[in-house]
Amino acid sequence: MSDDRCKGYREPTLSVMQQHDVGVWSDVEAHTDQGDFRGIILPRSETADAEHLVLKLISGYNVGLHYSTLISLTEVGRKEANYKIPEQEFPHDPKKPYVKLFGTGGTIASRLDYRTGAVIPAFTPGELYGSVPELADVCNLTTEKLYGVFSENMGPEQWIGTAQAVEAQIRSGVDGIVIGHGTDTMHHTAAVLSFMLQNSPVPIVMVGSQRSSDRPSSDAALNLIHAARTAAFSDIAEVMVCMFGPTSDEYGLLHKGTRVRKMHSSYRSTFRTLSDTPLAMVSRDNVQPLRQDYNHRRYSTAGEKGNADLRGIAMADFKCIPVFDDRVSIVYYYPGMKPDIFDSLIDNGYRAIIIAGTGLGHVNKPIYPALRRAQDAGVAVYMTVQTLWGYAQMYVYETGREIMGMGVVPLGNMLPEAAYMKMGWALGQSEDPEEVKRIMLEPIAGEITEREPHDGYLVHQGGLPEVADFIKHHRK
Ligand code: ASP
Repeated sequence: MSDDRCKGYREPTLSVMQQHDVGVWSDVEAHTDQGDFRGIILPRSETADAEHLVLKLISGYNVGLHYSTLISLTEVGRKEANYKIPEQEFPHDPKKPYVKLFGTGGTIASRLDYRTGAVIPAFTPGELYGSVPELADVCNLTTEKLYGVFSENMGPEQWIGTAQAVEAQIRSGVDGIVIGHGTDTMHHTAAVLSFMLQNSPVPIVMVGSQRSSDRPSSDAALNLIHAARTAAFSDIAEVMVCMFGPTSDEYGLLHKGTRVRKMHSSYRSTFRTLSDTPLAMVSRDNVQPLRQDYNHRRYSTAGEKGNADLRGIAMADFKCIPVFDDRVSIVYYYPGMKPDIFDSLIDNGYRAIIIAGTGLGHVNKPIYPALRRAQDAGVAVYMTVQTLWGYAQMYVYETGREIMGMGVVPLGNMLPEAAYMKMGWALGQSEDPEEVKRIMLEPIAGEITEREPHDGYLVHQGGLPEVADFIKHHRK
């Protein structure tokens, strides 16, 4: 058999495939010393390890079989990937709101072919309509692929590019924006967009999926429907993350871009609002705000907000500040840390360091000389807390006072990632450390709040007790 049929497979697995006369897209019965499997052999990425044969099982899950466990492989058929999703024209209904969907990548940007498991991008409105026809019940949708990366590869260039693309669309008069994004760093991008795009007249909704759409438990379609509903109709004109609320698919939650964080590596209900309550619950046909102190929609194509004069007013205080200086780092403090970590940042020309300190905002004494060095070198050092909930309160213990004495500035309850994003954005605007400090300490998008809701930490925000229960018992 030609190596061509074994796309991406290398020795020792290649020989086993050749010996049994199977290749990529063979539908096989695999007999192994760990049990029997039936599935389709998927192409192997060149960079993946050489020792596993990967099958897409009938259940939709992939399994990697170690070559040494394979006793026999019998081809019972072949199912080659169909890389094209059937396109259907997205219906246009002038009575429905207009939503723009930007794709940046991640699992939500992919659709797996049900038969073969090949990952194929689903981006055009026609492809999306083919995959999630319910979107046409909600809005008129146009799509644009900005990037096609897993979210660990998003960076300053992509954040700036996304902010500029969103700004242009909003100024052209859409009712709302949806941004598809990998979930791993969605909270980083949500935070930086909250700083770059201020006073938006319409909702800017980030959405992702934890499970790809070939899996029965995929959250992709429902998250997209919730996000489209929010962008089209919600009164909340903020940068938000829209993802599963509880572990079931009862409803989604809308989280403020600066207060949201991915908190579980695999649950679909992974995003949580920290130190606050989420903005709203969203179902297929309704957005139910959980609080009132949000930026209200000031523009929609429907009704009187679509009036041309009002549109001008709505856009007047909308600002886009797409800048970022990446000479900033987060240092996650651990007991026993040595000052050389800080020294290397100072020596390498970093302009600012965000510490995620212990407790109320602490580091050990051996770090002190490095903090003094940073201060002398004009490197700004700010403190957040690795407890995530709660405030950096550096007056309480001697350690906190000493550290502040070396110029370290506490950032209240700003989350470490939000602080990193805000700092890069602030450094992009000014060379003056005092101006940078002013920008850092002035809350722009809820990144520092005056107080946590007294019961905020106790509410699991989408788990148990459910949010509905929370409203009934705590918010009368
Ligand atoms: N690794 C993926 C990403 O963040 C995961 C996802 O899309 O959920 O891009």
